[in-house]
Amino acid sequence: MKGTISIDQERCKGCELCVEFCPAKAIRLSDRLNGKGYFVAAFDDGKECTGCGTCAVMCPEVAIEVMKS
Ligand code: SF4
Ligand code: SF4
Repeated sequence: MKGTISIDQERCKGCELCVEFCPAKAIRLSDRLNGKGYFVAAFDDGKECTGCGTCAVMCPEVAIEVMKS
């Protein structure tokens, strides 16, 4: 199973829980700041998302949507 994720940058607070818990290590903190002044999480294009959904479950801001394919 594969997946893709979408991160709502304005909801993200840069807590890195998604980075920490993604089993594929497919999310990293980017150098982009959102409107609240947080560095936001971003998908690492070099990695493969399995669509497991862990990141979406862990995110306290409900900022991540997972699409399975
Ligand atoms: S769905 Fe799973 S593999 Fe994909 S980015 Fe989220 S935690 Fe990582
Ligand atoms: S868990 Fe949510 S709030 Fe925290 S860095 Fe990831 S997307 Fe941002």
